[in-house]
Amino acid sequence: MPHGHDVLVVGGGVAGLACALALHDAGARPLILEAGDGVGGRVRTDLVDGFQLDRGFQVILEAYPECRRVLDYDALDLRPFYPGAQVWTGREFVRFTDPFRRPGGALAALTAPLGSMSDKLRVARLRKEVLKGSPDTLLEGPDRSTHEYLRAHGFGPGIIDGFFRPFFGGVLLNTRLTDSSRIFRYVFRMFSEGNTSVPRKGMGEIPLQLAGRLPQGAIRIQARVVEVKPGVVTLASGEELRGRAVVVATEGPEAARLLPGIPDPGSKSTTCLYFDAPRSPVRGPMLVLDGEGKGPVNHLAVVSEVSPDYAPPGRSLVSASCLGLPKEDDGALTEAVLGQVERWFGPRVREWRHLRTYRIPHAQPVQDPGVLDPPERSVVMGPGLFVCGDHRETASLQGAFHSGRRAAEAVLVGAGSDPSPVG
Ligand SMILES: Cc1cc2nc3c(=O)[nH]c(=O)nc-3n(C[C@H](O)[C@H](O)[C@H](O)COP(=O)(O)OP(=O)(O)OC[C@H]3O[C@@H](n4cnc5c(N)ncnc54)[C@H](O)[C@@H]3O)c2cc1C
Repeated sequence: MPHGHDVLVVGGGVAGLACALALHDAGARPLILEAGDGVGGRVRTDLVDGFQLDRGFQVILEAYPECRRVLDYDALDLRPFYPGAQVWTGREFVRFTDPFRRPGGALAALTAPLGSMSDKLRVARLRKEVLKGSPDTLLEGPDRSTHEYLRAHGFGPGIIDGFFRPFFGGVLLNTRLTDSSRIFRYVFRMFSEGNTSVPRKGMGEIPLQLAGRLPQGAIRIQARVVEVKPGVVTLASGEELRGRAVVVATEGPEAARLLPGIPDPGSKSTTCLYFDAPRSPVRGPMLVLDGEGKGPVNHLAVVSEVSPDYAPPGRSLVSASCLGLPKEDDGALTEAVLGQVERWFGPRVREWRHLRTYRIPHAQPVQDPGVLDPPERSVVMGPGLFVCGDHRETASLQGAFHSGRRAAEAVLVGAGSDPSPVG
């Protein structure tokens, strides 16, 4: 075993990093084997022409308990979004504000022409309901689709289509709102409790902060694992590595390939286009939503309005997110996106320069009702074999971080001699 490592962690996304860090903090000697050319998995930032491009638009909800526990938020220098959004109704933009988090926003929220006055009071009631007790209790109890849940709570089509669908559809990467109402309630609470932010230097700073706390030699990149057995892994090069335990921290579909006991969780896809704009089309750190539901763009953000470091001086960085994997090639998709946002912002969008398009086939595992039953799936596969990643709990940074720690704790107590069934 090189460098005397004793636990092999397959995958250097945030779950694998959180797992390795918890092992290291407890005195173990983990080795991360990462297939890619760097750590972070789905949370990476590329530098292109002086712009910081996150691999797909993504944010951290600061209230996520495990992120708060593990990350040094001050060092990340988190930059918050405005607590609300600007929604395109087809004729004009209307602004939604979380009146509880932005005093003075109550009037804007209550006068926004999306949804009835009763809908707005229902939002206040929902907020009060989800803020009761510990967040974990929201992942228990009755489960149904988010859409059914909203209808059962009396919300009308105006506010569902104009706000919930683009906003939570953007968060859950599914505008059909078929995701589990448990995850919706949990995420709704997180939005109500804390800022929605990006690190000043990009989302990729999150895994880099974790990696920076591991000792030298604890991460091997470009080391694809092709086979896993209790205590043994085989790399694509044919090299065999041994340890007292192996933790598979890959994304769900790859975990299913490496570990026969794990079902493929299915995939939600997304596509993100970045543009260099001479001037920002919006003022301030505001999320912009498509309230028409016609697409292709569901949500748009001028990330440099949130953290100026995302763009070189005098330029703005626009991210436009389309859900799924559009069939058009990059040229046709760029044209369709610009055609849509020209109706929002006028002909100045024709001055934008397309920087890059990210198509992400597996952005999140599918989280239909029932998937969080139990809310925390087992991380123990058997003696010497463990699993973690966002497919073990909520499909989020919180789920990935927390499952990583659970796997580390299971390794440390030597769990698995009497394995309970996994799925
Ligand atoms: C565009 C987008 C937007 C998102 N938005 C948000 C958001 O706003 N908030 C939020 O909380 N979450 C969001 N998410 C989800 C969040 O990013 C993920 O839940 C989280 O990053 C998953 O981490 P992970 O470590 O479980 O998996 P991954 O990040 O997928 O890491 C798995 C790692 O394993 C490696 N690997 C795979 N196979 C092998 C192998 N055979 N051998 C070695 N290594 C291997 C991969 O290269 C990868 O580095 C978003 C995701 C995307 C893509």
